[in-house]
Amino acid sequence: MASTLSVKAKGLIIGGGFPVSIQTMWKEPLASQALEAAAARIRGLAGLGCDVLRFAVPDLDAAETLGRLAAMVELPLVADIHFDWRIALRCLDFPIAKIRINPGNIGARWKVEEVARKAADKGVPIRIGVNGGSLPQDLREHVDSGSLLRAEALVEAALREVEAFEAIGFRAIVVSMKASSVEETLEVNRRFARERDYPLHLGVTEAGPLVPGVVRNTAALVPLLKEGIGDTIRVSLSDSMESEIVAGREILAAAGLGRTGVTLVSCPRCARAGFDTHAFTARWAPRLYALATRVTIAVMGCVVNGPGEARHADLGITGAGDKVVIFRKGKIARTIRREDADIVFEEELRALE
Ligand code: SF4
Repeated sequence: MASTLSVKAKGLIIGGGFPVSIQTMWKEPLASQALEAAAARIRGLAGLGCDVLRFAVPDLDAAETLGRLAAMVELPLVADIHFDWRIALRCLDFPIAKIRINPGNIGARWKVEEVARKAADKGVPIRIGVNGGSLPQDLREHVDSGSLLRAEALVEAALREVEAFEAIGFRAIVVSMKASSVEETLEVNRRFARERDYPLHLGVTEAGPLVPGVVRNTAALVPLLKEGIGDTIRVSLSDSMESEIVAGREILAAAGLGRTGVTLVSCPRCARAGFDTHAFTARWAPRLYALATRVTIAVMGCVVNGPGEARHADLGITGAGDKVVIFRKGKIARTIRREDADIVFEEELRALE
């Protein structure tokens, strides 16, 4: 698949063959009195691998708050606006990296055009998001009568919006067409990619809790990414932003597009375990996913199979009776007390960084 056009969202280029970026969405209302804490959390998200962070902006007060936050952080922040074009206009007075609108619910065409003109003046791209649940009425009727596939209707809805922006000369566009099924997500993005070369934002919408959400997004996104379709991804989960980012990284890795960082191997645990791999992995995952070096880390329950099963790991930790063993490249390096596991593991990790 030939590379798409590109847009610039603050320091990030989306499309044009640049690395596929990972997005997540802020999940709580943004409190104006807690911006320092929000900025600190955003820096943590960036450390985990988040490239773009989107915020729902439900009213003008929220636009002011997001505008102040955008000036405090490096990470590109996206304002997501429904219904009221004046909120989008206000957001464009701040260092917002991208605007996301659903033109179908903004109302009169001139309102959308006003947003596009101001975005063009400011050099800010717009993501046009169309959703299987909010198709234009005529297309919905065709889908309901069976004369149009939902995927065809989603592409048609997106093309209408794209053409409306093109008509006023605005081409700094990213397109998303969200469906909640894997098959429709595959179909709609393949169809659009054959039609136009705008960068695509991929994701399965309303994909559910952690496990089903990751499975559905993986099933849809990995084949598309392997076909060269998709420039930025968001794994929507009924779970934390951190989980969405880690899921995004693992999906990119599964598609052969992984970036520098950790490959985490951990055993499922069984009756042989002398070490709680679940608790250790949960405790260390945020730190490990923030590593900048390309390393494989293994967390194994027992010495019977642990080092052998993870012999390619740069660093490993495994239970051994009431002790814990540190191994490097599958070879036992140190045997320590279980209560010293975190301290020693930290030392060994620093030696790798
Ligand atoms: S590494 Fe040991 S504890 Fe973990 S699953 Fe394998 S045999 Fe069980």
